[in-house]
Amino acid sequence: MAAEFDLDAVIRKVPDFPKPGILFYDVTGILVHPRAFAYCVEVACQRYAAAGLDAIAAIDARGFVFASPIAYKMGLPLILVRKNGKLPGRTIKRRFALEYGEDTVEVHRGDVKAGQKVLIVDDLIATGGTLKAAADILAEAGAVVSGIFAIIGLPFLNYHNVLAGHEIVTLIDYHSEHIE
Ligand code: AMP
Repeated sequence: MAAEFDLDAVIRKVPDFPKPGILFYDVTGILVHPRAFAYCVEVACQRYAAAGLDAIAAIDARGFVFASPIAYKMGLPLILVRKNGKLPGRTIKRRFALEYGEDTVEVHRGDVKAGQKVLIVDDLIATGGTLKAAADILAEAGAVVSGIFAIIGLPFLNYHNVLAGHEIVTLIDYHSEHIE
């Protein structure tokens, strides 16, 4: 079993970043603490060891950091879900609404195999909009989304509604826009 780690102690909370009213949960504090980073990776590997996964999908960009060692340790293919215009091959894309404006995610069509059981990994779930768009394009490409794993959850932003039907695992949850 992975030794317990107090993630809250290494996640920096930055008020009014990147804009007023947002409390930013900074995962770089996890990355500079090797025991914290190892804890995140090991818990995920243990949690999904018997899930029969065929691939890990990683969300651009901080999701890449956590998904990569998980895929490597589990010996699974790593599928990158990227922001618009970064992938050179044939893609499937989805536009989605952000708090202000919109964004697009895309995946290489050829990276996803029909019927493949995929776990999607990101650093943090806020509204769940990005993960919903990612889950939709993976499903459109023929994958079966087996679960969603993130280090931090902000359930007060109601991502459980947006991601209804998906099994979601987070390692630490925060319950307001204020430092707890
Ligand atoms: P969302 O689509 O609203 O779930 O958020 C998309 C991405 O934005 C997350 O994967 C995070 O990387 C980032 N993000 C959103 N809100 C925050 C926050 N309060 N602190 C840190 N990152 C955030």
